[in-house]
Amino acid sequence: MSEQSGNGLRQRGLAWLWLRRFSQVISLCFFLYLFLRYRYQDQNLLQGPLHLFFRLDPLLWLSEIVASWRWTWFFLPALAVLLLTVLLGRFFCAWICPLGALFDGIGTALNARRGRQPGNLSPSYRLIKYLLLLVLIVLAIFGFNWIGIFDPLALFFRSLALAIYPAASYSGERLFDLLFGLSPEKWGDSLDAIYSVLKGPLLAERALSYHLLVFTGLLFIGVLLLELVERRFWCKNLCPLGALFGLFARWRRLRRLPAKLCGDCGECKFLCKMDSFATESGRQNLRECILCMSCQVSCRENRVQYRFKASQPAVPHPDIGRRRIVLAVVSAAVSLPLLKVGSKRAQAQAIRPAGALPESEFLQRCLRCGACMKVCVTNGLQPLLLQGGLDALWTPSLVPRQGYCEFHCTLCGQACPTGAIRALSVAEKQRTVIGKAVTDPSRCIPYARGQNCLVCEEHCPTSPKAIVLRPQKKMNPHGKVVTVKLPVVILDRCIGCGICENKCPVEGLQAGIRVRPLVSMEQRLLEKAQGAGRKA
Ligand code: SF4
Repeated sequence: MSEQSGNGLRQRGLAWLWLRRFSQVISLCFFLYLFLRYRYQDQNLLQGPLHLFFRLDPLLWLSEIVASWRWTWFFLPALAVLLLTVLLGRFFCAWICPLGALFDGIGTALNARRGRQPGNLSPSYRLIKYLLLLVLIVLAIFGFNWIGIFDPLALFFRSLALAIYPAASYSGERLFDLLFGLSPEKWGDSLDAIYSVLKGPLLAERALSYHLLVFTGLLFIGVLLLELVERRFWCKNLCPLGALFGLFARWRRLRRLPAKLCGDCGECKFLCKMDSFATESGRQNLRECILCMSCQVSCRENRVQYRFKASQPAVPHPDIGRRRIVLAVVSAAVSLPLLKVGSKRAQAQAIRPAGALPESEFLQRCLRCGACMKVCVTNGLQPLLLQGGLDALWTPSLVPRQGYCEFHCTLCGQACPTGAIRALSVAEKQRTVIGKAVTDPSRCIPYARGQNCLVCEEHCPTSPKAIVLRPQKKMNPHGKVVTVKLPVVILDRCIGCGICENKCPVEGLQAGIRVRPLVSMEQRLLEKAQGAGRKA
């Protein structure tokens, strides 16, 4: 090859490399920008292409199909991504995936310190992602959908929503407190101006806390730190979305030439962050190449180029082996009853947001992305850990003591990308029952202490009110008989929004009035009725 055309190749490669980096930065910034827009902005309406990244994700599309067994146009952009994968290979991983961009950023920082290193893990580790994909699909078919837990976009969003953003927002607030305390008076106005610009978009309107903040945050940091083991460890070995792309990349038309490592150099092996060159044959595995263009740019001999080829490439199947496949499917099927242990409990424990689908369908369609919890204006939607069994991990449940379901808000339904929570109109939402409030006579002030307290009745938003006050004679703590107004819940009117429990002035975790999930409430009423029947 002439020196001139070789340089031309290199220049072209360099242009593609910078274009790719640009695309990654834009993609990551846009993802973060959209993430920050999942919030109340002076109106009960979420605007903009908020779900764009979820819609581009073929794995989430697959999850939706398996969960609902119906075609959905919502994920049409994901089909376009798959078609492009057939043409270009795993381009998504190096050009669009925001988590991949973060890995590359961290990897670059680490490499700057320790120099580029080839992966030293056995290539068989890469099969894990294919097995994981298989197991997730089998489990989802049988009603246990954990695809969203491992999907990189859902994982990234969830980690941001439930851990990184609350922690960053809290740290930002403390930093401003410090700066306001330290800065001379003449800077006060400028600081104030900066603070008011950041408040809302970057700093949360209120201090946010989530039950799984530490767990979610540590898990995410752990995933990022895998870069210490190998560059793009997650993408190479674990990512089920990467595995799906890898399966479709089998037909890719854009190929690297030469298809093998050059006998006299072989440096691409060390450069390739995906370790896509087979150890013995030196042939590139097109399922693993993510089109990062590094080999073309770094080739000293100017030999490497990318070309479209009409012919079918010789791409070996992922060498999983029939035995491993059968083992994975059988163990998924066998472990299903174990994984499902406690999922009935979810129904009795969880107060799902207004508009949530019936419980089993909800569990199938919820991605555990945390979007609903991010937009919840009162911070009352919290992720479940194991209260509802493994099946319900990270799914949203209202914790009224922490925050109630705002009567005029329908943001969670708008934020949910899959329709696990339906987008309701305000009028519909105000009629939707998510639980029932029950007074606790041992803690409620009028019942327990014989003193008036009107808080829950005053805050009840329904019309007519679901909590009424009934005067009754009670003995107060001084032994005097007084007339006290006792709060009584009219069950037919109560929608379970939890504002009564939230505002109840009784101190401690347990309020004097508590919202019970619908299922447990129905059970209680049934047991009561059966008990009365037996006595009669
Ligand atoms: S209910 Fe919807 S928004 Fe909430 S975590 Fe599940 S998929 Fe995400």
